Amino acid sequence: MTERRLMTKVGHTPLRRCLGCRKRRRKDELIRLVFVEGRSVVVDVVQRMSGRGAYLCNDDRCLRIGLNAKAISNAFRKRVVIDENLRKSIETIPQKG
Ligand SMILES: [Zn+2]
Repeated sequence: MTERRLMTKVGHTPLRRCLGCRKRRRKDELIRLVFVEGRSVVVDVVQRMSGRGAYLCNDDRCLRIGLNAKAISNAFRKRVVIDENLRKSIETIPQKG
């Protein structure tokens, strides 16, 4: 008889909270934003940049709520200015589903 431990750590993926809907989702379903010193906030396309990250669903509603200076400043605990480049780079990410 084999003792199988199903349901424990199967397909474990770290969860992160979306700035928009505040729901926890799999990290790989979210857009990662990183604060780069001297360059403000950029999209971490490769999900591998160092630094403090904030996450957003790739969803119009979440982007509208989360992509504002106040929400992002809270996430990074510093004053952040959202520039047009950030918006543009997020718009180029294809939405899933
Ligand atoms: Zn969301």
